[in-house]
Amino acid sequence: MMRAENATHTVDGNAAAGMLWDVFGTDVTALVGVCGGCGASAPFAETVVEIDEVAAIVRCRSCTHTLFTVLRDDQGVRLVLGALHEITRE
Ligand SMILES: [Zn+2]
Repeated sequence: MMRAENATHTVDGNAAAGMLWDVFGTDVTALVGVCGGCGASAPFAETVVEIDEVAAIVRCRSCTHTLFTVLRDDQGVRLVLGALHEITRE
């Protein structure tokens, strides 16, 4: 697959909701993730996300550690865990 550009956009978790939906099968933006790097807890909606057509890198807004990465390829969608320590549903 050829890509005309390799633009990466930095957005928040709300804008990545579709890609997260592909992984979890539901809207997870209200789930609270706890960062293993700095201990901050925040809804996925408030994370910092670097996104392009094939990947979304979800970072802690407090310390910028990568919480997890979503990869999309011909095989499907994969979630690669990073510093994400805990997920809480409130
Ligand atoms: Zn952090």
